[in-house]
Amino acid sequence: MLFRSRTKDVPRAAHNFRFFAQWQEMAGTKAFDKPWDGTFGYELREPIGVTAAISPWNFPLMLLTWKVAPALAFGCTVVAKPAEQSPVTASILAEICAEAGVPAGVFNVVNGFGPGSAGEALTRHPDVAAITFTGESATGRAIMGASADGLKKLSFELGGRSPCIVFGDADLDAAVQGALRGVFYNQGEVCLAGSRILVHRSIYDEFCGRMVAGINEWKVGDPFDPTTRVGPMVSKEHLDKVLYYIDLAEEEGGKRLAGGQRITDGALGRGNFLEPTIFADVDNSMRACREEIFGPVAAVMPFDTTEEAISIANDSPYGLAGMVWTKNLDTAHQVARRMKTGNVWINCFFVRDLRLPFGGYKSSGIGREGGDYSYEFFTEAKAVVVKLD
Ligand code: NAD
Repeated sequence: MLFRSRTKDVPRAAHNFRFFAQWQEMAGTKAFDKPWDGTFGYELREPIGVTAAISPWNFPLMLLTWKVAPALAFGCTVVAKPAEQSPVTASILAEICAEAGVPAGVFNVVNGFGPGSAGEALTRHPDVAAITFTGESATGRAIMGASADGLKKLSFELGGRSPCIVFGDADLDAAVQGALRGVFYNQGEVCLAGSRILVHRSIYDEFCGRMVAGINEWKVGDPFDPTTRVGPMVSKEHLDKVLYYIDLAEEEGGKRLAGGQRITDGALGRGNFLEPTIFADVDNSMRACREEIFGPVAAVMPFDTTEEAISIANDSPYGLAGMVWTKNLDTAHQVARRMKTGNVWINCFFVRDLRLPFGGYKSSGIGREGGDYSYEFFTEAKAVVVKLD
């Protein structure tokens, strides 16, 4: 959407370059002085070499530059493969790099599909030393297999099905708005989306009612209209996938409180527009709750104790992010420590600090990126020991 591109995708892409340009100045190495045996050991870091950066279609520039900026900052060359649905911004970035004086061959873009095409060719190429990939967990598995022969260094940022836990003492207005934004922002096409919403039974009915009232205020519409909050699904194929999960959630016993239909009237009927959908009384064992939908579909369920909330939150093949809404610092910290996810947000959502590690547990990823984590990924470490006497 235009608004999202102006406020998130493009500014964060610029920030990714500024941040890693500065981080490169600060990144250091370790040294160990051992005067008792006359040795001095130190660590050297060298660029790993040619890096393949394979990225998805949601936030196409932000997620691509999250890989390209640190790779260039730490001295690597990059071959970028943007998603086939969103190739344009990567090509514009290549033009900007050329204009800015980046030497030919340092930042390269290849377009194409994944399996049997440009993506797979990159992952198998003997000159590629490292692959940084963001996309579906199933694609991560395929890339891991394809790159095994070359024993390439891998960093994977994969899918998610993140829990959002709302305790009975939460600031209700903030929690409702946070939960709505957490699941419906960018029409739910967000890896971090807090799409499993666990609400304490003492506020469950009121919370569900407020969510429905809240989502009715979100305008579904033309992505070029700045007042639009929910745009179209990326493709007809993806829309059909989301509709399949809506039917499945209903079959599996979820109670539909809002949305659930493709919009067929007027101008929107010509696009892949879908009403934001809320299911209540969902059971965490349902497929519609365990598999990644990647669309505007919220699954809300009640819990009674903190122990139960943590257990439901962790009962997922994914472990990318989790949100906690409570005024009790002890509860917040206890849940943050015990949640099996790479990111935890307490009384907020989507707030990033690029110095912190970003990545996921379980099927949500391998490795971490950000600050020193990216420095480690894009460089090889060498140990040097000097005998001084
Ligand atoms: P995808 O896995 O289908 O495609 C991502 C990229 O991989 C594309 O460029 C595609 O062409 C390429 N690709 C596909 N198969 C390949 C193969 N066999 N070999 C090499 N390359 C291949 O994902 P998508 O549909 O573009 O994006 C949505 C997914 O991305 C969701 O699962 C979402 O959760 C995930 N995602 C994760 C993060 C994160 O930071 N963890 C961020 C955004 C999106």
